[in-house]
Amino acid sequence: MPFSKPSLDRFYQKIRSVLPKERALTDDLRRLAWGTDAGFYRMVPEIVLFPKTEKEMSAILRAASEEKCAVTFRAAGTSLSGQSISDSILIVAGKNWEEYTLSDDLSAIDLQPGIVGQRVNDILSKHGRKISPDPASIGSAMIGGIIVNNASGMNCGVHGNSDRILKSARIIFADGTTLDTGKLYSREIFEKNHPEFIAEIKKIRDDVRANPELVAKIKRKYSIKNVTGLNILPFVRFDDPFDIITHLMVGSEGTLAFLARAVLRTEKIVPRSASAMVYLPGIDYACKAVQALQSEPVASVELLDRLALRSIEGRPGMPDYLPELPDSATALLLETRAVTGEQLSSQIAQITKALENFETLMPVEFTEDAATCAVWWGIRSGIFPSVGGMREPGTTSLIEDVAFPMDVLPEATKRLQELIAQYGYTDGVIYGHARDGNFHFILNQRFDSQKEVDRYAGLMRDVVKLVADDYGGSLKAEHGTGRNMAPFVRREWGDDAYGIMLRVKRLFDPEGLLNPGVIFNDDPDCFIRGFKPLPTVNPKVDKCIECGFCEVNCVTAGFTLSSRQRIVLSREMARLAQTGEDPARLRRLKKRYRYWGNMTCAGDGLCATSCPMGINTGELTHDIREADAPAGSLVWKLGDMAANHLGLIETALRPVLAVADLGHTVLGTKAMSAVCNTLNKCGVPLWVPAMPKPHRVKKIKTAPKPERPKAVYFPSCINQTFGTAKGVPDATPLTDKMTALLEKAGYDVIYPKGMENLCCGTIWESKGMPDIADRKTKELEAALLEASENGKYPVLCDQSPCLYRMRHEIKSMKLYEPIEFIEEFLVDRLDFHPIDEPAAFHVTCSVTKMNLRGALERLAARCTTKPFFPEEVGCCGFAGDKGFTYPEVNRYALRKLRPQLEERHIKIGFSNSRTCEIGLTTNGGIPYMSIVYLVDKVTTPRNS
Ligand SMILES: Cc1cc2nc3c(=O)[nH]c(=O)nc-3n(C[C@H](O)[C@H](O)[C@H](O)COP(=O)(O)OP(=O)(O)OC[C@H]3O[C@@H](n4cnc5c(N)ncnc54)[C@H](O)[C@@H]3O)c2cc1C
Repeated sequence: MPFSKPSLDRFYQKIRSVLPKERALTDDLRRLAWGTDAGFYRMVPEIVLFPKTEKEMSAILRAASEEKCAVTFRAAGTSLSGQSISDSILIVAGKNWEEYTLSDDLSAIDLQPGIVGQRVNDILSKHGRKISPDPASIGSAMIGGIIVNNASGMNCGVHGNSDRILKSARIIFADGTTLDTGKLYSREIFEKNHPEFIAEIKKIRDDVRANPELVAKIKRKYSIKNVTGLNILPFVRFDDPFDIITHLMVGSEGTLAFLARAVLRTEKIVPRSASAMVYLPGIDYACKAVQALQSEPVASVELLDRLALRSIEGRPGMPDYLPELPDSATALLLETRAVTGEQLSSQIAQITKALENFETLMPVEFTEDAATCAVWWGIRSGIFPSVGGMREPGTTSLIEDVAFPMDVLPEATKRLQELIAQYGYTDGVIYGHARDGNFHFILNQRFDSQKEVDRYAGLMRDVVKLVADDYGGSLKAEHGTGRNMAPFVRREWGDDAYGIMLRVKRLFDPEGLLNPGVIFNDDPDCFIRGFKPLPTVNPKVDKCIECGFCEVNCVTAGFTLSSRQRIVLSREMARLAQTGEDPARLRRLKKRYRYWGNMTCAGDGLCATSCPMGINTGELTHDIREADAPAGSLVWKLGDMAANHLGLIETALRPVLAVADLGHTVLGTKAMSAVCNTLNKCGVPLWVPAMPKPHRVKKIKTAPKPERPKAVYFPSCINQTFGTAKGVPDATPLTDKMTALLEKAGYDVIYPKGMENLCCGTIWESKGMPDIADRKTKELEAALLEASENGKYPVLCDQSPCLYRMRHEIKSMKLYEPIEFIEEFLVDRLDFHPIDEPAAFHVTCSVTKMNLRGALERLAARCTTKPFFPEEVGCCGFAGDKGFTYPEVNRYALRKLRPQLEERHIKIGFSNSRTCEIGLTTNGGIPYMSIVYLVDKVTTPRNS
């Protein structure tokens, strides 16, 4: 094994008896893919491990300890200060660490570290509860990363951060020992086996307490947000050594031990809230208002400086007068919360009165209107993408994160603003959690010249002086010390406090193997070394900052590559191509990328829905496919021929489906599956029992009646060819069912002319043939315009993903997919008689992207008293035809489906995409059909 050190070789041999090869990666492509976090440093691990159990984790840590190999833990990899990367062993504890237990009285939740923070809140919100830590990254960051970074956001301040709500922790130490501080027997065993460890904790505690100046410093510094260095507050807050150990884990950034479980206190959600946007002249003046608001009932006070306001001028919901405000204008976005309306009104009055002492640029007005508040808070959350999105290609967006004590806030903030301008950062926006004295500033930075590196280093050194020396603030308030602030920890805290941190580090990690270089780093310049290269690749993805927010929605994240990792690899391949550095490596990466990056990308674009920059990595994949099959190539010619003879292709496909169906009947499901699985291994597309019989659309028999409303129904090419599968409860092909439903509701149905040759073009788009795709869409548009008499009649397509593309490309008429069409046109013409049986509903990617989930939920509730939307099932991974060619993606995407269906004894599922339904049936173990079948089943014509 070509590792850089023999010790890594020995380590790898040892852990291979614990972990299978597919969970111990050493290949170039995936090591690089995992070697990134949201920060701007790059390290490539030599080994990437995916343990699933505590036993495996203990064995890994023991082996690393024995061989003296460095390890870094990783949850979601959204850290900004370079603390979740490694050049040695990276241990990923994300997707396999997602269990939780809610206490009977709902006051606490016991969590494994890989569960995403927002998911915890989704689980709790059903009980009117939540956890208080609220980083802006909560939709992606995992509990391990949230606690171990002590992440916080707009509301939790220092009163509701992880340190405040952590009840106990289950910890695996560097030598593999496990301690559960919430279990008496575990504490007893630990104390018996490690008496010297407990004695040293007590000694450090007593030494801290024997130094009143240090105690005062610790209390003062943690009265504001502070995550610089290790968290040493526990020595002041707690007497019990196990409580101290528990809380030392908070903010430890993987430098002390592995957090295997954490029990967090939950809190009730306060139901009522109101917000106000207050404009003040000057950032220091605004900070004075913030000081005045400290004694008022405000839940959040977010500051937006003039540059931040400029970045959102003209956005929907922002006032027209925004551009006219003076150059010094600064906004405070306030929120107040209460249990009752009365309480809320009284709080609003109280806050408004406090603000009467300040000259505001506009009158102060609170609103409870949910839509207005959502716009304001959405805009506040969108500051980072708005500023980052405007940056030049080849630059990255850095978010710095400092906090000042409240008494110096106006002066310190003003000086910070001046300092950023002095260094020529004309887009250096300041914004953030003013109530806690915590501000972020964004720098759009390039690191490709010494001049730029020097500029950044100069600014940071001056920021350190301003924040730490001049005002006693925190160099990092939320994002963690990482490598970014490691050289300045001692400077901020002083020798006494830093000495305590060092003693803690040596006690937990005597060999210095856990996340070396993070928090403790002897290199004064480590913060300006090892920058990530950011070569330009494709304008569609060049704005990516590799934050990883896309990964929660990427179907192959953790399986092949995630959207972020596809961009990382594309950048590296572009860099190698541009520099000519290592042609053999470039060839190797390209070859491997074909499967891991290209062929297994579902291209569904869901990644864009959680990307702060709205980047759709599927578009990058389409471009790569286009480059692989350019216009005029053989593959393109085949695509072109298929497009020109679609009707013939459909005709040819029907006998294939018929033969497969006959095989299924003759051989039976088991034998047929066995044969086809073997064929699939030889490269033949997979046959599954959910494969449909062939189908051909029948001519409409009923004569049109002038008095009846009309609808154009375009059956997608799939539904013109695919009938139903064996074993479904209703064998009527979808096109017949849809037509029957429309007729039941009193509609005359019009099919577009020549529809057997029509297609929305999605299939060509996904294969990287945009020119052919566009041609097909244009043909379709012309036929639909004619059929609908230029948009006079509504146009319906029965396949949601097709409709998504049609809606995107065709603007000349209103187009509907089944859910919307039924809701808008049929609901008033039908009586619904909901069934009293559970039914599962699948939200397709196109439904998510078209914001139709709510409509699907409403329709489901009309049809059954027991609708069920499985949790954590996003894109099904079938991706048009990938379910046949790369069925492993479909299997992985739906791995959480079947257990949920079985637990609830659900026998039937519904969706609105025929191909997705094949994959859902195969991997869910129950038939999935179009929702049109259910609507038809439960309805009668109105007043019939
Ligand atoms: C756009 C953007 C906005 C952000 N906004 C905020 C914000 O508002 N507030 C904020 O505080 N942060 C914010 N962050 C930073 C980051 O998202 C948070 O700190 C988050 O909590 C990190 O969680 P993670 O799951 O990504 O952890 P990772 O980055 O994977 O890991 C974080 C640290 O914890 C260690 N670690 C992970 N799991 C374990 C474990 N089980 N045991 C021991 N050590 C472990 C890692 O080694 C690393 O040092 C933001 C990031 C981005 C990109």
